[in-house]
Amino acid sequence: MAVDNMPPVISDSPSGLAIVEREVARACRDARRDRASVTLIAVSKTFDAEAIVPVIQTGQRVFGENRVQEAKAKWPSLMNDYPDLSLHLIGPLQSNKAREAVALFDAIHSLDRASLCEALAKEIVKQDKRPQLFVQLNTGEEPQKAGIAPPDADAFLANCREVYGLQIEGLMCIPPVDDPPAPHFALTAKIAARNGLKLLSMGMSADFETAIQLGATHIRVGSAIFGKR
Ligand SMILES: *Cc1c(COP(=O)(O)O)cnc(C)c1O
Repeated sequence: MAVDNMPPVISDSPSGLAIVEREVARACRDARRDRASVTLIAVSKTFDAEAIVPVIQTGQRVFGENRVQEAKAKWPSLMNDYPDLSLHLIGPLQSNKAREAVALFDAIHSLDRASLCEALAKEIVKQDKRPQLFVQLNTGEEPQKAGIAPPDADAFLANCREVYGLQIEGLMCIPPVDDPPAPHFALTAKIAARNGLKLLSMGMSADFETAIQLGATHIRVGSAIFGKR
């Protein structure tokens, strides 16, 4: 029997995934949201197939990686074994890896500059493949962090559409580590709403409940599922 037809297994000593799943369900109830409106992305960066397979076998199907090369080394064989997996790129993308990224990922969360828009637009046409696209915001305007500064977001999103013909579906943010995350999530939601974007990629292990309260449709959870990196 195909393993991917098996229902999720909740053992009596709950795995990281089972604990996270319970907390996501509770946060959805508290926010009066449908559990199905939040996609849990299990962030498996730095973990090998041996750590990933048990999580797949528990029923998880959506995974996130932050490096194209690492993902290329790990995922093609896993996708061969489990064809219904979906893989999201959540880390920075160099324009010269756009081809590999479009080929491998079902979603890209880190669109943050015109040159990358151009490279992705070209590959999307060439490969006739449409990964879900998110523009990354640098809500804390931190100089060392990738992402579009909030004051530039509307113009950047307009350019994505009008100049590059890209259909952007959402926004992603990573709040500054030392800030309360809620204002960053709220700002991201506000910019998405006024630009007609439906998807919000926000919330990690430490703050996904807050992100769900503020409308996250995609939460990116690594260490709470896989353990310390
Ligand atoms: C690593 C990573 C995560 C997951 O972080 P955890 O704190 O382990 O949940 C989420 N988003 C991005 C962009 C990451 O690089």
